[in-house]
Amino acid sequence: MAMRFTILGSSSSGNCSLLATQHCKILIDAGFSGRQLCRLLKTVGESIEQVDAVFLTHEHSDHTAGIRGLCRFRHLKVYANRSTARAVQSKLKRRPNWKLFETGSTFAFRDLEITSFAIPHDAYDPVGFIFKSGRDASLHGKRSLAWVTDLGYVSELIKQRIRKVDVLVLEANHDTQMLARDPRRPWPVKQRISGRHGHLSNEAALELLDTLEDPGWEHVFLAHLSKDCNSVEKVSQNVSNGTNRERSYRISVAPPGETLPPYEF
Ligand SMILES: [Zn+2]
Ligand SMILES: [Zn+2]
Repeated sequence: MAMRFTILGSSSSGNCSLLATQHCKILIDAGFSGRQLCRLLKTVGESIEQVDAVFLTHEHSDHTAGIRGLCRFRHLKVYANRSTARAVQSKLKRRPNWKLFETGSTFAFRDLEITSFAIPHDAYDPVGFIFKSGRDASLHGKRSLAWVTDLGYVSELIKQRIRKVDVLVLEANHDTQMLARDPRRPWPVKQRISGRHGHLSNEAALELLDTLEDPGWEHVFLAHLSKDCNSVEKVSQNVSNGTNRERSYRISVAPPGETLPPYEF
């Protein structure tokens, strides 16, 4: 095993995953309160004291709400690009142990190699991540995971970055018809969600899975579902109604607000 990946929770109301390698444990986003995060970690037999770092994709509260509460854990490093760190810091009294990276750069943390890349979303400088780990000499070489949520559309750069990873976490935010019919969201909000810097629909997510040539994935997690404008059933329907093309990988859908079993690869 090179990595163990656990979605602690993923939806429009909060996102956080745990990625463990041989030599480190990190959180990808921290979109629940500090207390809730500690509780979620406990449910999978971990604790915040054992987590080494948090990697933030962008400043929206469903990805960063926990940073305030996590500030008191001084051992925790918080990785973000400058614009995201500035936006998050502006709402905090204390200063987390920021570690800044440039969007587009590749850097190391313990036995992880991390690459960030720009994604189209209405935040200051939102990113997706590729995490790689494992010994080059092992049977599988390095193993890799891509984390790509909160994006209005899938750019060519994103397609290039995610094509050959082993595990892909991709947003399937809303069903376009459910969003159009939703009585609670005013029209401008609907425009924002479905726009070029909003969120990826089920249809757009499936289109990517069905059209990207020769993907290397063994498992795809569809995540960041909207609680009001999507459901696991809708996403699953889309998956099975999709292409006739034989899929060489498995697909899991992350139910909003639920912790998924750990996935080892
Ligand atoms: Zn967002
Ligand atoms: Zn989000």
